[in-house]
Amino acid sequence: MKIVLLGPPGCGKGTQASNITYKYSFPHISTGDIFRENIKNKTPLGIKVKEIIDKGCLAPDELTVELVKDRLSKADCKDGYLLDGFPRNLFQAKELDGFSAPDLVLNIKVDLNKIEKRITGRRVCTDCGGSFHIDFIGDTATCPTCQGKLITREDDKVETIRKRLAVYSEQTQPLIDYYKRQNKLRDINGDLNIEGVFLEIVKVLG
Ligand code: ADP
Ligand code: ZN
Repeated sequence: MKIVLLGPPGCGKGTQASNITYKYSFPHISTGDIFRENIKNKTPLGIKVKEIIDKGCLAPDELTVELVKDRLSKADCKDGYLLDGFPRNLFQAKELDGFSAPDLVLNIKVDLNKIEKRITGRRVCTDCGGSFHIDFIGDTATCPTCQGKLITREDDKVETIRKRLAVYSEQTQPLIDYYKRQNKLRDINGDLNIEGVFLEIVKVLG
């Protein structure tokens, strides 16, 4: 099955994506993770997008679309995919329909007022890439999985979060209607706890 995960920054897409891949084994493709990996390794792509991403803006469409198209052409995607962070605007959605249209779009809905708190408490591991929240692990700098170093993502700073939320409202939210019209949209209550949200997803995916 080809699945797109839609939702505002900090809605728990990444966490649920790991849960979904674990149970259903579709390859998890996160454009945010791909960009961050490239930034960390200072690749030409990473150097190109670093400033844009740190400011909370979107990476250029052409570049992002090419990246995803290339990734979806790999053998592991022939039976489906789980896209996380793409598409993020109408242009990207139409392009995706052109080369590999999704079957289902899971729309994770959360109370936008809670997002700032959710994101400022987020910590990511510089070694294993894991993502955690201080409400669950405490305010520690050590990764609970691999003992690596935990940091706050550059684009998780308060000022940047506001920008990302604005970008979401303007550019990504219109996709909800786009996929609703195609009859592919399924709403997921993202205000439940991690297990609760996952149960909602399992109800939809079967
Ligand atoms: P979030 O935590 O907001 O869901 P992601 O990890 O998905 O964030 O993405 C982080 C940043 O990477 C975005 O704010 C954006 O700058 C860039 N990015 C990710 N996916 C895309 C995309 N499809 N198009 C353009 N830029 C993207
Ligand atoms: Zn780790």
